[in-house]
Amino acid sequence: MNYISTRSNDYSCKSAYAIKKGLAADGGLYIPTKFPLLTLDEISAMSADNYNMRAFNIMRRFLTDFSDAEIKESIDKAYNKQNFETESIAPVYKLNNQVYFLELWHGCSSAFKDVALQILPHLLTLSIKKTGEDKTVVVLVATSGDTGKAALEGFKNVDKTKVIVFFPANGVSEIQRLQMVTQEGDNVSVGSIVGNFDDAQSAVKGIFSDESIKKELSEKGFLLSSANSINWGRLLPQIVYYFSAYCDLLLNEEIILGENVNFVVPTGNFGNILAGYYAKVMGLPIKTLICASNKNNVLADFINTGMYDINRRFYETSSPSMDILISSNLERLLYDITGGDYTRVKDWMHDLKMRGRYEVPDITKQRIKEVLWGGFCNEADTLMTIKDTFEAYGYIMDTHTAVAKNVYDQYLFKTGDSTKSIILSTANPFKFGESVMTALKGELEKDVGQFQLLEDLSVITETKVPTQLLALKNKDIRFGQVLDKKDMKEFIYNSL
Ligand SMILES: *Cc1c(COP(=O)(O)O)cnc(C)c1O
Repeated sequence: MNYISTRSNDYSCKSAYAIKKGLAADGGLYIPTKFPLLTLDEISAMSADNYNMRAFNIMRRFLTDFSDAEIKESIDKAYNKQNFETESIAPVYKLNNQVYFLELWHGCSSAFKDVALQILPHLLTLSIKKTGEDKTVVVLVATSGDTGKAALEGFKNVDKTKVIVFFPANGVSEIQRLQMVTQEGDNVSVGSIVGNFDDAQSAVKGIFSDESIKKELSEKGFLLSSANSINWGRLLPQIVYYFSAYCDLLLNEEIILGENVNFVVPTGNFGNILAGYYAKVMGLPIKTLICASNKNNVLADFINTGMYDINRRFYETSSPSMDILISSNLERLLYDITGGDYTRVKDWMHDLKMRGRYEVPDITKQRIKEVLWGGFCNEADTLMTIKDTFEAYGYIMDTHTAVAKNVYDQYLFKTGDSTKSIILSTANPFKFGESVMTALKGELEKDVGQFQLLEDLSVITETKVPTQLLALKNKDIRFGQVLDKKDMKEFIYNSL
């Protein structure tokens, strides 16, 4: 299978090269030239498999330049008892006869990004070898909170790699911050940046497209790469759990083979939901992908109006991993939905960069609406949804998942669609304990310590605090530095 750029249909390469590079040389994103199709019988057969076998079945269709043994080994190194607290890796929880939660947060950073970032380092190191590279890879990450920790954990002490993470000083929860600044490992660095996530992301993108930095690093034996969800090696493992969830519902006789389901996805950079779109393209019976935004509702507006416009206020919300105005992976959807019209995609991305907006024609808008339904949820409703769902079902959600649940409720109300729906649950509620506690209790007392709060939440919800979050209490801070954007370059050089 070959991969090309979304902006030129050029730079054709194998998966190893695409994974190594992250971004294509023209600034576009790598996409497979063709998607494999699975028959219903193949999907049905997969339901007898465990998660690792399902992952192997899906991933080998895309990684044709990897041997089966390499793929299997990468999968087993990623998805095991050490890294995930449940053998099913991504279990499905049944809320009622129509709604399910796909719990993606049982990994070591307590958020869904572990599913991709535990396997990416293995795919990346293999990719480097396969492309004849002897440089050390420097993985540069801009994070709105969850990617950073998951990348640090995934790459920690992996041979021939270094990982440098930048997070917005004011855009992450206290637990997220502690998770990153206490990170262990010999090949890791973390800096917090003055500004919001988009500031951090655009600065990192700037470094990626700066030839002089690349040259200087190259001379020192380093190669820049990305672990953000624009990397194909991150997107691919996410396709797996859509199939896996469907297989679980089949296995439990919640649905019959071929029955359509909806997926509801709390969305930020558009990586998670794009993987769902690809699963649909590959033949998974999905009716609608419900795209849930928080108060930063650029995507919801885009789906409903065809106008993508970032000239608006940026809000810091209680679901910080979705506080994004530029959802990078949308570019891949646009490419596919326009039948590979890369000239258009390139123009839109140019407009976005120069004017902060672009508008797609009616036909494109129509196509998007055939597969996506967009909605958003404000801050008060996010907290209310956590409380209501807990009171009605005893099920506790984090803020991101609550945004999705709320948007699903809006969808149900507006469309009356009774199709069984799977809400992607993207973080452990304890990771956003302060907001979850506020949702349940109203105003919190001032100066309640983070860890007291987790224990209180544990008592109220009768659930256990994840051990890796409790352990943060006694860890030393290794990376306390707050940086200005202009100092990032120097920070990188100093980290190597
Ligand atoms: C990253 C993240 C999201 C958003 O996922 P995208 O792939 O960026 O759309 C949602 N919820 C949580 C908890 C996350 O960490």
